[in-house]
Amino acid sequence: MKSHAQVVVIGGGLVGCSILYHLTKLGWSDVVLLERNELTSGSTWHAAAGTHGLHDTNNISRLQYYTMSLYADLEKETGQSCGIHQPGSIYLACSKDRVHQLRIQATKASAFDAEFYEISQSEIRDLHPLLETKNVLCAMYEPLAGHVDPSGVTHAYAAGARARGAEINRFAAVLETNPRADGSWEVVTEKGTIQADFVVNAAGLWAREVAEMAGVTLPLIPMEHQYFVTEAIPAIAELGRELPGVADRDQEYYMRQEGDGLLVGAYEPDGRFWSENGTPMDFGHDLLPPDLDRIEDNVMRACERVPVLAEAGVKQIINGPMIWSPDSSALLGPMPGLKNYFVCCGIIPGFSQSAGLGLTLAQWMVEGEPALDMFPWDVARFGDWASKEFTKARAHDTYGSRFRIHFPNEEREAGRPLKTRPVYAMQKSMGAVFGMSYGWEHSHWFATDGVPQQDDFRFERPKWLDIVGVECRALRASVGVVDISNFAKYEISGANACSWLDSLVANHVPKQDGRTCLTPLLSPGGGLAGDFTIARLSAKRLLMIGSGIAEGYHKRIFEQHLPAKGVSFRSVSDAMAGFNVAGPNARRMLERLTGKEWSNEELPFMSNQVCNIDGYEAIVIRVSFTGDLGFEIYVLEANQVALYQSILTQGAEFGIKPIGSRALGAMRIEKGYGSWSREYSPEWYPHESGLGRLVKTDKPEFLGKAAWLSVKDNAPRQLLCNFVIHSTDATVADAWGGETIYQNGKYAGRVTSGGYGFSVAQSLAMGYLNADMVKPDGEYEIAVLGLPHKAKLLREPLFDPKGARMKG
Ligand SMILES: Cc1cc2nc3c(=O)[nH]c(=O)nc-3n(C[C@H](O)[C@H](O)[C@H](O)COP(=O)(O)OP(=O)(O)OC[C@H]3O[C@@H](n4cnc5c(N)ncnc54)[C@H](O)[C@@H]3O)c2cc1C
Repeated sequence: MKSHAQVVVIGGGLVGCSILYHLTKLGWSDVVLLERNELTSGSTWHAAAGTHGLHDTNNISRLQYYTMSLYADLEKETGQSCGIHQPGSIYLACSKDRVHQLRIQATKASAFDAEFYEISQSEIRDLHPLLETKNVLCAMYEPLAGHVDPSGVTHAYAAGARARGAEINRFAAVLETNPRADGSWEVVTEKGTIQADFVVNAAGLWAREVAEMAGVTLPLIPMEHQYFVTEAIPAIAELGRELPGVADRDQEYYMRQEGDGLLVGAYEPDGRFWSENGTPMDFGHDLLPPDLDRIEDNVMRACERVPVLAEAGVKQIINGPMIWSPDSSALLGPMPGLKNYFVCCGIIPGFSQSAGLGLTLAQWMVEGEPALDMFPWDVARFGDWASKEFTKARAHDTYGSRFRIHFPNEEREAGRPLKTRPVYAMQKSMGAVFGMSYGWEHSHWFATDGVPQQDDFRFERPKWLDIVGVECRALRASVGVVDISNFAKYEISGANACSWLDSLVANHVPKQDGRTCLTPLLSPGGGLAGDFTIARLSAKRLLMIGSGIAEGYHKRIFEQHLPAKGVSFRSVSDAMAGFNVAGPNARRMLERLTGKEWSNEELPFMSNQVCNIDGYEAIVIRVSFTGDLGFEIYVLEANQVALYQSILTQGAEFGIKPIGSRALGAMRIEKGYGSWSREYSPEWYPHESGLGRLVKTDKPEFLGKAAWLSVKDNAPRQLLCNFVIHSTDATVADAWGGETIYQNGKYAGRVTSGGYGFSVAQSLAMGYLNADMVKPDGEYEIAVLGLPHKAKLLREPLFDPKGARMKG
């Protein structure tokens, strides 16, 4: 075994081997994989190994299609069979919502040239003569879906990696990972110690234990999962060809042919945790006791769909553990709080995603960042708040509803409330309906007018949207107060606070106390890694506001660059709360609240002041995310209730309304303001997303400067645009995000955000258009609910295009 390597990958399952393979493919050959047993000794060896392409998230779909297509290349490259079967898969919809979901997915598929298309009842029967089509409203066919051989694929990755110089050590359990002063790692194994520049935790079922070796905790919990294989079924044997798989997702099971029988697996509503307190070190090629009774209901539904199943004897039952994250998506990327330590764990559909995960992680290490926006998989989307109890509650929920439809604005109840702010009870009594934002309960809308204080999710416009409309109109007409405590807040202080921050962000950090700026933060490749408001309170104290959901993501970047002394960088998101007071009467309201004047001279647009409200310190920043005259007020959390009460009391005269974040979201779309992980992500360069003017190349340095200089004069690939979608009587829904935009029937781009604009009484969308397809006042079509709707490209946002209101 080597004593030094550039990378040590811990775990020789499907995923670890894919990472190793992709590292070598990107040119890093000094890489070592350590496996405590034989390769495949975790969840991998006993998987049903089904593969499919489409996913609700476009980038994940892309990576799933890449994975499915790679297996054939891998076979050719290595000579190792991957046992590829691609009989396709039939997706069934038996409810209106499922029809919408499938049609939405079908239109998204065109974005990455994937085949996923609607088929008729007779086509279903041709493809799968044993399938009962009763109640089927719509069906889609994905020709490339199928299954592979778990061991074959894993060994093919291993062979491909070895051929490019990688070393694989089996029976070399990692016992310790110790950080070294220079940022590298000492990896202690049963067979000796390796010094590694980078460590990757791909330990699957043991990812928790391996993470603990480095002193960090991953939000993961193993759960049992069962499938069974039947004896040969004569009707299948007679067909002499392989039947397509059946994705009957409303019924929470999956089915495909195995030999001349069927393989059926199910996600029962009351899933079982396994080895909650730690995966045993001696578990390997083992299975758990079968218990088919637990999945009986799901299986009965499968029998109704394919009646020959009911007649077949069971040949083999597999009950094995797989490890779940709270939202059932991968935990991928650099581990916050650690240097040169990457994770890739918590993977449920590993056979659909293995190559995408391996490629993405390898890009992250070799090139500094992945090619696609991977925020939905980024381990930093969770923080310390994702406790064991929360992880269990969420895993249980997501397991039992694995195939549930994800609607726009979806919020899950499991594990909540987790963290509440002092105003929680007060807002609840005022009708607030909450969602979760980076662990915190956060008010989304305030139930009034007899609308139940309860969320409801659907593709069509829900009832609560009327209330969001009331909130938007109230703010635009007079004044509203939006709780913005869910924004991430950072305090940067110390003698070098300004110069340090200035060396990182792309805009100039304000040179005068009391000034505020908006700034992008660039990724290593020059894309958008973030957008922030920076308020310079004094030469030694700055308050920086960013996206709440990206707090872990952004902290990871800033902390990497923190010098040993001279600067303190502290997240104050928990310690501070904030309110946005906005609308034409916001100034008068603030003057009433503070007893002082807030004219344009006193507090110009993009400035700030520290003032006193009822004896406590408040930071007032003149910025606007609603597009209206607005002020953000930040106070210590202990003063949150007092401030909220004062705002509501003083605002009564102006008819002030509590406004939730859904209304805030609708108003920012009216104004065409981008938002993190929708319009802004490292996939886009600043000049494509309208932020180019905020990148100052005259600065001596900022993160991503070299990359930006190399691309800034290139023609943009795509451009962020605003659209009006023409509503017809039949239009009952708005765009949400991910929908395809067409020009003359051709793919032209995709929607990033959408919703109803109440101030302008129009259905609106924002999205990236291929730059050569941007035609002023051009006519486009946007696939709302999977059906094309005429849309018009706007030259400027519909609401207050010149910004007169917010600067007024
Ligand atoms: C019953 C069942 C059916 C499934 N069906 C499907 C399906 O149809 N389609 C699909 O896509 N996915 C399916 N899966 C999920 C799939 O199996 C997983 O996504 C995949 O195997 C995860 O691979 P991994 O490499 O991340 O983890 P693992 O397979 O758990 O591999 C981790 C490896 O790390 C090694 N390791 C751990 N600790 C150490 C250490 N300290 N030192 C060295 N090595 C260590 C382990 O020995 C192990 O080999 C199924 C899972 C189950 C349980």
